[in-house]
Amino acid sequence: MNQKQHVVIIGGGIIGTACAHFLTEANFQVTVVEKGSFAEGCSTGNCGLVCPSHVLPLAEPGAILNALKSMFQRNSPFRIKPRLDVSLWSWFAAFAKHCNKKDMLAAGHAIQPLLAQSLTDYCQLVESNVVDCEYQQQGLLFAYKSAAAFESYAATNELLRNTFNEPAERYVGAELNELEPALKENLAGGWYYHEDAHLRPDKLLASWRKSLTDKGCTFLENQTVNDFQKNNDSAVAVRTSTSEISADHFVVATGATSPEWAAWLGFPIPIQPGKGYSLTMPRPQTCPKIPMILPETRVAVTPMESAYRLGSTMEFVGYDDSISDERLRLLTDGVQDYLIEPVTSPIERKWFGWRPMTSDGLPIIDRSKILNNVWLAAGHNMLGLSMAPATGRLVTDLITGRSPSVDPRPYAHRR
Ligand SMILES: Cc1cc2nc3c(=O)[nH]c(=O)nc-3n(C[C@H](O)[C@H](O)[C@H](O)COP(=O)(O)OP(=O)(O)OC[C@H]3O[C@@H](n4cnc5c(N)ncnc54)[C@H](O)[C@@H]3O)c2cc1C
Repeated sequence: MNQKQHVVIIGGGIIGTACAHFLTEANFQVTVVEKGSFAEGCSTGNCGLVCPSHVLPLAEPGAILNALKSMFQRNSPFRIKPRLDVSLWSWFAAFAKHCNKKDMLAAGHAIQPLLAQSLTDYCQLVESNVVDCEYQQQGLLFAYKSAAAFESYAATNELLRNTFNEPAERYVGAELNELEPALKENLAGGWYYHEDAHLRPDKLLASWRKSLTDKGCTFLENQTVNDFQKNNDSAVAVRTSTSEISADHFVVATGATSPEWAAWLGFPIPIQPGKGYSLTMPRPQTCPKIPMILPETRVAVTPMESAYRLGSTMEFVGYDDSISDERLRLLTDGVQDYLIEPVTSPIERKWFGWRPMTSDGLPIIDRSKILNNVWLAAGHNMLGLSMAPATGRLVTDLITGRSPSVDPRPYAHRR
């Protein structure tokens, strides 16, 4: 009997876990090595939105001007901590270059297959009881207070309808309250995407880990992978803080801290941490049924079955792990004008995560130029949960050499 090939995955977040799933399905022996506790990086307290409607990247025409303006606004959800950091400013220079319609559309076309495949995969994972995560397909609503802001979204809707076949339904004034009675009256309107879904990320990851463990996958926690042991142009093992683990293939799925692997991958990994916060609390009595994004305050509202979560902010402040109550107030202040019962108590969890941000909005899924059996899967920006299953599938396709489920070229480090 042939022995199974062994894959070591560095990083126990949603991307590492999704890779573990599809590699296990493909009959590999898989070990996930996590430097902290499993799924305690960016993948646990996020907003839980699985949103194929979000095809457009952050780099869009006008984004740099908006970013500059918000630098001078107190309490803007967007924030840059000015500092002498070459990687930060070269990231912004590259971001600025992508803020044009051509690149925005190209990124949208590249993201869309990962989003679409992932939605299908989540449905199957839920239906086959691999995961148990309060999954609901209630759509996603963009709700607006001001008529001007509401109407200005019509152009984006046209673009999404005509170019990506992602139309939203328009709800004006009172129609919005009929659709979502938890909203206050007198809002201008909303745009509703039917097909989007949401789930509880910590439950998703805990149940996925359990299913994978039952299938023989190993999860090692509190073990930092420091480097590889190599033999010519292949890696033969990873060295962790406490042991050495040999394997046939390796996947680096280390999210926002991935740039530290650049020397082993043989190419730069221009990822910046985009810090965001969430607050988790009990569901209000008048709880929304549809998850929402409030674009005027940039707060996301997720009504999970067992909790209610607000999430927001995009801060380029380096690897800062502090939790600021002042920044958290942006979340609670940002929902006051929209919801009948905007906030509840007690706050069960104050959380931050570092989104792995690339300048063009696309993940990097590619093979090391130095070690031919090492792969990077990182840089999923604001959509790691929404793109994870398709990423795991693609990484498995690339390692096995089978025909890839989506075209991998847009995710190559040089694109
Ligand atoms: C406020 C907020 C809301 C969000 N909402 C959504 C949403 O609604 N929908 C959506 O799709 N996305 C959302 N995101 C984005 C999403 O959370 C991220 O894109 C995703 O979690 C990235 O997953 P990852 O596995 O790449 O990184 P992580 O979850 O950070 O996992 C990487 C792991 O690697 C480990 N690691 C790093 N270095 C080493 C090492 N040397 N050895 C061992 N382990 C190591 C880390 O400890 C970490 O656990 C949100 C993000 C934030 C901050």
